[in-house]
Amino acid sequence: FQKTSISNFDFRSPVKRIGILTSGGDSQGMNAAVRAVVRMAIFRGCEPFLIHEGYNGLIKGKDMISKASWEDVSGFLTTGGTVIGTARCTEFREYEGRQIAALNLIKTGISALVVIGGDGSLTGADNLRAEWPNHIADLLKKDLITKQMATDFSCLMIVGMVGSIDNDLATTDLTIGAVSALTRICEAVDALQCTASSHHRAFVVEVMGRSCGWLALSAAICTGADYVFIPEDPPNSSTWEKKLCTELKNRRDAGKKTSLVIVAEGAVDSELNPIKSEHIKDILTTRLNYDTRVTILGHVQRGGSPSFYDRYLGTVQGAEAIEAILKADASTPSLVIGILENKITAQPLKEAIKLTKQVANEIKNKNFSRALELRSTSFLNQLKSYKEVAAFHHADFGKVPENKRLNIAIIHVGAPAGGINLATRSAVRLCVNRGHTPMLVYNGFPGLMRGEISIADWMQVDGWTVDGGSKLGTNRDQPDLGMGSVAYQMQKHNINGLIIIGGFEAYTALISLYENRKSYPAFCIPMVLIPATVSNNVPGTEISLGSDTAINFITSACDNIKLSASSNRKRVFIIEVQGGRTGYLAVMGGLAGGASCIYIPEEKISLNTLINDINFLKNRYKIEWGQSQGRIALYNETSSKTYSLDVLARIYQGESESLFDARTSILGHLQQGGTPSPLDRIHGSGFAVEAINWIQEKCWESMISESNADQKVDGLRRGYLQKVYTNSKETAAVVGSISSDIKFSCVEHLINHTDFENRKSKNLWWLFTRDLIDILSGNNNQVGIH
Ligand code: ATP
Repeated sequence: FQKTSISNFDFRSPVKRIGILTSGGDSQGMNAAVRAVVRMAIFRGCEPFLIHEGYNGLIKGKDMISKASWEDVSGFLTTGGTVIGTARCTEFREYEGRQIAALNLIKTGISALVVIGGDGSLTGADNLRAEWPNHIADLLKKDLITKQMATDFSCLMIVGMVGSIDNDLATTDLTIGAVSALTRICEAVDALQCTASSHHRAFVVEVMGRSCGWLALSAAICTGADYVFIPEDPPNSSTWEKKLCTELKNRRDAGKKTSLVIVAEGAVDSELNPIKSEHIKDILTTRLNYDTRVTILGHVQRGGSPSFYDRYLGTVQGAEAIEAILKADASTPSLVIGILENKITAQPLKEAIKLTKQVANEIKNKNFSRALELRSTSFLNQLKSYKEVAAFHHADFGKVPENKRLNIAIIHVGAPAGGINLATRSAVRLCVNRGHTPMLVYNGFPGLMRGEISIADWMQVDGWTVDGGSKLGTNRDQPDLGMGSVAYQMQKHNINGLIIIGGFEAYTALISLYENRKSYPAFCIPMVLIPATVSNNVPGTEISLGSDTAINFITSACDNIKLSASSNRKRVFIIEVQGGRTGYLAVMGGLAGGASCIYIPEEKISLNTLINDINFLKNRYKIEWGQSQGRIALYNETSSKTYSLDVLARIYQGESESLFDARTSILGHLQQGGTPSPLDRIHGSGFAVEAINWIQEKCWESMISESNADQKVDGLRRGYLQKVYTNSKETAAVVGSISSDIKFSCVEHLINHTDFENRKSKNLWWLFTRDLIDILSGNNNQVGIH
């Protein structure tokens, strides 16, 4: 300990001083979290301090702890890794090390610490907090702090955020960095699949995840891998090698030219023997004679610019961390900010770490089913569904009895959206494996009217994980154009269940079919909509397929356009995004892209709004003259009839007093295309699996038999016997993600929650993030940013 001159520093700050550090392994999105903490702290009248190089910086003190200004975190959103640095610090594991850290915190006047890291880093922070009274007593005894300081700093508040690519912390659905890492894996595996197929090769890909298989399982779902090994679901030690060979051979028998196995780095068998990629390669080479290669993805997974979701998570959690600190008092335990059921949460840190450690312990003790249970029910369901979708069932193995087999049609309606092909693939494969007949309808409802229907097979949909657009062809036409023809074709092909994949047009189409049940018994079957639209405006779900892909596109477009704008030093781009009459894309894109202003249909644009925005921009460019950042504004395509994109740009330009130039950029249909993002793929598969389960259940409940003779007569009266007949309102539904669970809502109920005039749901759950854009860009009259 160096004795410090206590009188030389101003420890009794009139405002709360908050320290922030990143620790342990870096992960994409940590910077977004640091930016949000710093700017939110300033917005709320606190003083943020950046602690560099994790706990090392806290122990070294001096210039490793610096007061952060608004500008210090500019450009943080786009950057991967952690700009303020991270470290693994052995000294902090010791009581003495933590005491030096405590002294440095007190010396700087910091009474609250935000730590972004894995469970180790958060445990360390919690230990510091638990021992705080002892540190204060010791420091006082050693005359390193005064009595006044001991009183002023009698309590240290800790708030943790989980930055971890493994997604391994209990009590949060996703950790900061996990989705970006999954994105890197999918990019790599998608690329590998092309070369694998040219050479008929097998690839074994090792991904990170020491005791958590989330990355490996999610990657397997997203890329359509044939087999996955994860720590929580170890295969039988004496039979797994044989089983693996049989399963891969089955798929080759079904027509596959390649094989893909994904292994988590911590994968083990039931006796806890490690399962290593090289060993799997040897098995495939010697027993199956496959030309097999191993790819270990390693640190690539930690790299690159964060994807939309990690920027979003880092930003909203960072803002919540400051709120949690301001609400806390001496009795508040250390907290960890997480996301559960699509809501940002602040929960006791100790419990979260205890639960997380318990999973690892259960694996160590070979209680694998308990480990899986602790992970979450959705993880368990994903694993089960993945296995069923990936398999190829020979003959009658695994199939439902003949009399329960169904004809299930799948149709795409509306504009294309990322993930719809993968959803179709999962539905087809489940149908085939269970013995049902999947029927693909081409070219939307006009195609259905013309009878463009074919039976799909398992192999046909093999590569549909990665393809953007719609493999079936899609358009906005409604069934009303020829209700009779639609009914005729459905009857002719004896369709027992219908899956419609699409956006608002698909939703209105489903309502039409439902409302026409009285006239057309062919529509008296279970019908379900899988929501898929970049606009994310379908009632009955918080998330639609394609919206994540679109926001990721918008986010990287914003990054690129900002670079162009920054190079010019004084340029503002107004970027038009899609979304129909829903501002979801503009809000989320603006949050992740760091927009200074946004314009959405939910808010009226007035001259006052424009005056505020232009004044804000002028002030910024005045202050930053000659070294200014480029700035962007996001404009939803239907924001205003009066203030069109062009008019807005002219007003910006005309009123800028030459402090900045205004330019426009329209992202257009680029937002609908491209490779689907991992989250859209995961949701696509999840929706499809649940849709098939639901159709099966509803169909079986409504099968015509002697016991429901009335319906049989009803069917017969119309000249044919319908195998499935239902006119219950429960059997026309939207499958959606609500509070991160997959749920079904019947359309009759949803009609009341629909704003038909503006073609959107009345529930705009995402609007809560809107204010954050203004706060974090400084475009808020109340923000004292200097
Ligand atoms: P990752 O998930 O990337 O491994 P992590 O935060 O779990 O991240 P660790 O190496 O376990 O990474 O911890 C990072 C740092 O946190 C350690 O170097 C150490 O300084 C501190 N730390 C970890 N565990 C403790 C502990 N039990 N007590 C005090 N400090 C700890």
